[in-house]
Amino acid sequence: MICQNCGKEGVIVQLVTENVGKGEKLPVIEDIPLIQCQNCGESYYTAKTLHELEELLAGITDNNLQNEYDIGKAVGRESW
Ligand SMILES: [Zn+2]
Repeated sequence: MICQNCGKEGVIVQLVTENVGKGEKLPVIEDIPLIQCQNCGESYYTAKTLHELEELLAGITDNNLQNEYDIGKAVGRESW
């Protein structure tokens, strides 16, 4: 996988757990694939991951806010 920032090989994918959202909606999302580059030190989510996060957040209501979300399952871990 090539770094989107510096264009070199050498990125690693780390699964992170973060509070994602705005305002009062701060669900904990597990296993978000965070791309980290060993060359330039940049870390970022891919556009696909951000898109999936957006869709996930759009589907979260106050009623199911307490659920745990597994973005790894949502985006498909084989498709990075
Ligand atoms: Zn880089």
